[in-house]
Amino acid sequence: MTKTKIIATVLASVVILCGGVIGLGFGLGWFGDDDDNTPQHTHIWSEWVVKTEATVTENGLEKRTCTDCGHEATRTAAYATGTVGLKYSLINDNEYAVTGVTVGMGGIVHIPAYRKNEQGEYLPVTEIAYQAFYFYGMSVVTFAADSQITTIGDEAFYESGSITSIIIPSSVKTIGRDAFNQCTNLKSVIFAEDSNLETIGEAAFRGTGITSIVIPSSVKTIERIAFVNVTTIEAVYYGGATKDDWDNIAMAIGNDRIGDDPSRTNAVRYYYSATTPATDGNFWRYVDGVPTIW
Ligand SMILES: [Zn+2]
Repeated sequence: MTKTKIIATVLASVVILCGGVIGLGFGLGWFGDDDDNTPQHTHIWSEWVVKTEATVTENGLEKRTCTDCGHEATRTAAYATGTVGLKYSLINDNEYAVTGVTVGMGGIVHIPAYRKNEQGEYLPVTEIAYQAFYFYGMSVVTFAADSQITTIGDEAFYESGSITSIIIPSSVKTIGRDAFNQCTNLKSVIFAEDSNLETIGEAAFRGTGITSIVIPSSVKTIERIAFVNVTTIEAVYYGGATKDDWDNIAMAIGNDRIGDDPSRTNAVRYYYSATTPATDGNFWRYVDGVPTIW
């Protein structure tokens, strides 16, 4: 069992058993802080009851109350559902891929971290599948804070015309071929600070309107023409600290728009520095999750 599956299974069990396994949460450190007795007072807890139902974007909570002092404790009891109308398929019986949308859905999509299978167990949602949002008129896509997505598949958002910005969760390792090709309104691509991204696929951002992009330090490979025809790009916020780090990326042909030849690009590359840079040069850091120039 993977760690995520175990946690998801435990969560599902707790939902079914309600208050019967209160002690379990402490060991996992997952259900929130209940252990707030004082030396003078030990809480006398009620049963767990639903405090808030899960919504499209928010996890559902349960609460219990001390019948003596009125103190309330809460714990997560159900994951946010994600946008209603997304289609899924099981991968190896233990993960889900988002495969598409129901006709007539709106343009705002939230990708959940987990989804229940037929047995009521939560399984991680790990992939946006091939052509899941191909030519879909999406305006906003967001991911759960605890997103489990590792792969954005080939052509996943191909010509999904009205996306303007996206924050890609840290769990993503691979962006597939043509994943955002022809997203002409896509201007800003930000990766979470602890990104695990390794591969940017062929033509992944071809023909987008990107003006700034983060390239995480974890990136090992940028495939051919990933940024071709991106004439708008002005800033590359690279997560590595030096030019040597950048040169270690396996960079295929057709990526001059983020390259070093000033006759082929207008983009400035900024190197990451968490603290005030000690040398001259172009440096950046995150401020509240937003790339910010020193
Ligand atoms: Zn109390």
